Amino acid sequence: MKIEIIKCLQDNYSYLIIDEIEQIACVVDPSEAKPIINFLKNKKINLKYILNTHHHYDHVGGNLELKQKYNCEVIGFKGDKDRIPEIDIFLEDNQIWKKNNFEAKIYHIPGHTTGHIAFHFFKEKKIFTGDTLFSLGCGRIFEGTYEQMFNSLKKIKRLPKDTKIYCGHEYTLQNSNFCIAEDPNNLKLKEKIIEINEKIKNNLPTIPSILNDELECNLFLKANDLESFSKLRDLKDNF
Ligand code: ZN
Ligand code: FE
Repeated sequence: MKIEIIKCLQDNYSYLIIDEIEQIACVVDPSEAKPIINFLKNKKINLKYILNTHHHYDHVGGNLELKQKYNCEVIGFKGDKDRIPEIDIFLEDNQIWKKNNFEAKIYHIPGHTTGHIAFHFFKEKKIFTGDTLFSLGCGRIFEGTYEQMFNSLKKIKRLPKDTKIYCGHEYTLQNSNFCIAEDPNNLKLKEKIIEINEKIKNNLPTIPSILNDELECNLFLKANDLESFSKLRDLKDNF
């Protein structure tokens, strides 16, 4: 299974999960259709599934056009069935979604929105976290509560430490500025910031991140209780 990172809009990432033998793919959170179509056309790959982490326009904007073009299935959380465009398959928390050679466990991780989910391709140790967990940050709490977001991040923290994190936006550099301001003596973070700057300078994605690095450097994962997590979230909102 190969992952292809597709830049969309300003700072969004959509991801193609490609079965190279069958020449078929899933797309995670297609912000827009065009860059996805261009890539698929070039490589002669057929799109079979659209996986949506949540209903925000910058994650579902390409659904309709892609479905019309490829006749693919749209997959999302059952609680969001009225606000994910073109949804066909309704997922539940802890369900295993399996089609062709694609297999992922679904985690309901509310906080950013009430219906946010993650797709965990556990055999490949990759998780698609949308706008819940970013590299060195977490999503803003729009619909849910601090407690929901805190518990959602906890679910991700429990995964194997070498799990690769694929998130919805390239926010890593801005996020690192906040983390280093609050955690100035973190050597691992300092190392990571050097790597991040190098990648950004060369116009490369800082994604995927490794869960282990996030556990050591991401302040929102390092927060051990709800109170300190909530404080951090407030600080970041005004950073
Ligand atoms: Zn969002
Ligand atoms: Fe987003």
